Amino acid sequence: MKNLNSLDLPHRYQASLKDTETLCAKTLRELKTKKIPPNPIYYTLFYEWISQIDSDLSATIAETLEFDNYDDASAQILFNMLWSKVLGQSLQAETTSEILNELLDSFDHWLRSHDHHYLILNGKIETLHQFFSKEDILQHLQQEVLPSIKAYQDDTFQLHQQIIQSQQEIKQLQTELTKATSLAKTDELTNIPNRRGFNEKIKAMIDNANTQQQTFSLLLADIDLFKNINDQFGHLIGDSILRYLARLLKNLIKGQDFVARVGGKEFAIVLPDTSYSDALKVANNIRSKIAAKPLQAKSNSLPIQLTVSIGVAIYQLNEPFEQLFDRADRCLYQAKANGRHRTVGEDAL
Ligand code: GH3
Ligand code: MG
Repeated sequence: MKNLNSLDLPHRYQASLKDTETLCAKTLRELKTKKIPPNPIYYTLFYEWISQIDSDLSATIAETLEFDNYDDASAQILFNMLWSKVLGQSLQAETTSEILNELLDSFDHWLRSHDHHYLILNGKIETLHQFFSKEDILQHLQQEVLPSIKAYQDDTFQLHQQIIQSQQEIKQLQTELTKATSLAKTDELTNIPNRRGFNEKIKAMIDNANTQQQTFSLLLADIDLFKNINDQFGHLIGDSILRYLARLLKNLIKGQDFVARVGGKEFAIVLPDTSYSDALKVANNIRSKIAAKPLQAKSNSLPIQLTVSIGVAIYQLNEPFEQLFDRADRCLYQAKANGRHRTVGEDAL
């Protein structure tokens, strides 16, 4: 029987082939010593215990063995724990429970038929001593023992197929989940990260900044008097301006920089490895590029003079994210108060 661990399971199960072989041999030895049959559930649990992949689970199994509580019922509970952990690493519990149930049903069926096959096979092997001639023994082996072994094999094969099918379903779910997660982090209108996507990226950036002792800059850019544009030209034009601006900002940044739509008309631009004075330069460059290109909404209307105000803050190592965002926001507010279409940096606060 092919064991679960040699299948394509999540990362924690990917040991080298040699390690796996040693662990398999140890697992079988241990099962034999404890006189426990190597059915799929027991085998998997013992493998888990011996490989110490998950320290909590290994400890629970060891405890169960120590107190002599190891039987079918306790094994089933431990096995459920194991699978919930393995699947729960990458998938939500609700989405996996159906697959888990299917798998457990198959294991259950296998266990029951294992007992049945075992009894039949044992009986047939025991009756062998009633035969004396080589021919009779051979005939009995061919007609009785071999078909029983074959039936046993067929059941095991079916279980194997079920595991493979469940694996495929899990992979499919994983793909769907990845797609859904990425959609939830993207702004539908502009196709750049939304506030949720921004929060995730900025957290990673802050962790990195603190470990590398390398700071970064945050720009908050907000369209000036956007309400007037919407009122004058309509929401559809307003929407296409937001899309245009997202594209333009994406084109103006480079490398590890990133831009996100963090509010209705507010964009955040993050510039790793960028000093405060360079961040001010980038902000002013963005501002002048936007202002330099009046937009033609309709062929017969006046061009729209689009401008933005920008607040600039630099991350102080080990400060919480909210403090950084609040400084950039206050700078932006000041830029608006000072007459719009300007950049205000945190040293002006
Ligand atoms: P200020 O320069 O002071 O920021 O003035 P403002 O008019 O831009 O700001 P205000 O906060 O008064 O109005 C924000 C406007 O942004 C109102 C709303 O119609 C518009 N807005 C927000 N989200 C969207 C959107 O997804 N599409 C469109 N077309 N407009 C939006
Ligand atoms: Mg406003």
